[in-house]
Amino acid sequence: VVEQADVVIIGAGAAGLFCAAQAGQLGLNVLLVDNGKKPGRKILMSGGGRCNFTNMYADHTAYLSHNPHFCKSALARYTQWDFIELVSRHGVAYHEKTLGQLFCDNSAEDMVNLLVKECEQGNVDLRMRNEVLSVESNEQGFMIKLSAGNIQAKSLVIASGGLSMPGLGATPFGYKIAEQFGINVLPTRAGLVPVTLHKPLLEVLQTLSGVAVPVSVTAENGTNFKESLLFTHRGLSGPAILQISSYWQPGESITVNLLPNLDLDAFLNEERAEHPNQSLKNTLARHLPKRLVESLQTLNKVPDVTLKQLSAPQQQQLADTLQQWQIQPNGTEGYRTAEVTLGGVDTKALSSKTMESVQVPGLYFIGEVVDVTGWLGGYNFQWAWSSAWACAQALAKT
Ligand code: FAD
Repeated sequence: VVEQADVVIIGAGAAGLFCAAQAGQLGLNVLLVDNGKKPGRKILMSGGGRCNFTNMYADHTAYLSHNPHFCKSALARYTQWDFIELVSRHGVAYHEKTLGQLFCDNSAEDMVNLLVKECEQGNVDLRMRNEVLSVESNEQGFMIKLSAGNIQAKSLVIASGGLSMPGLGATPFGYKIAEQFGINVLPTRAGLVPVTLHKPLLEVLQTLSGVAVPVSVTAENGTNFKESLLFTHRGLSGPAILQISSYWQPGESITVNLLPNLDLDAFLNEERAEHPNQSLKNTLARHLPKRLVESLQTLNKVPDVTLKQLSAPQQQQLADTLQQWQIQPNGTEGYRTAEVTLGGVDTKALSSKTMESVQVPGLYFIGEVVDVTGWLGGYNFQWAWSSAWACAQALAKT
């Protein structure tokens, strides 16, 4: 017996749940399939368990893609304010943490419950623990063979996400389906991920594991973020590093300004006038963690002198070091700890209005599987909601 559905959606993550709910509420008969035990596993883990579900400043400038214009239409048609309205309607309490980032007050579970309730309102048939064995197109649409049986659907939506955190069920399924249908997949790499360091530098900085400092960090292409940097036992992490990792390519350097809010020359000149015999180390420790200053001394970045001994060229060199510290990462921690996957299904192959494949009518790709990747701060979920919404509207018109 072959079951029938208007739409089969593969992947009950952020994008799949939201698309299923919307399409169901628009009157479609929707089957949502996932190979995991529970829907929205990444949502539950997100934002440190509180889900940073959107960002008040979301617009296309916060996304990386080979076509930076692709995400504009969907983001403009279903905005952060639309999603915030939905969150409020469900009575989910939230707050702005920083930089427009909205988090649940209580738990990310509130977000999964919201999405599951929305699916119930759309009579979505949610089937967890189902493996997709094969997908074939035919005259009526698509035949989807699941471990639990065969489904014939008019439309097929791929919402299976990227490769980051295989421990949370990430698989290359979406890319394989794209390839099966001759749709281009751009090379993928880990994004929003800690970077690792070469041994000599790591050995010194490792001792700072757990120390965080507000910095400004710049990639070779000029992209810059002002957030905090965290030293770890493997290298560097913290929001500033996660952000810049998406813009970093192997072999490139990043430039770290450890004192982004300080006029270092003016500060040193004032201090020298008042305390000429004070050590440079103690002086810098007024603006930086002492252990960090000591490590910078070990790396010969800070001379072991008093302020009156500090020569003009030394002072210039110090400013260069502390405010333009060039670090060449060894690599990243990879998909194991990455929050997102850069690259993926080529947006050239999709309609930016509907997320439908240009070559294969009825086949849609939404969420992270598409080559659209947001900054840290709720932007990735907003892409999931916006792309899912655009797709659901299109499905309802077919
Ligand atoms: P996913 O949410 O990954 O969902 C894909 C679904 O497809 C999963 O349920 C998976 O089980 C299923 N699936 C995969 N392969 C198959 C298959 N072969 N068969 C059947 N089902 C399959 N973004 C933010 O905006 N804010 C945050 O606070 C935030 N925090 C994060 C924290 C962590 C630890 C991680 C890893 C990511 C975080 N992100 C955050 C990124 C965000 O989680 C993703 O961008 C978002 O979940 C992508 O949604 P999606 O629906 O496209 O994919």
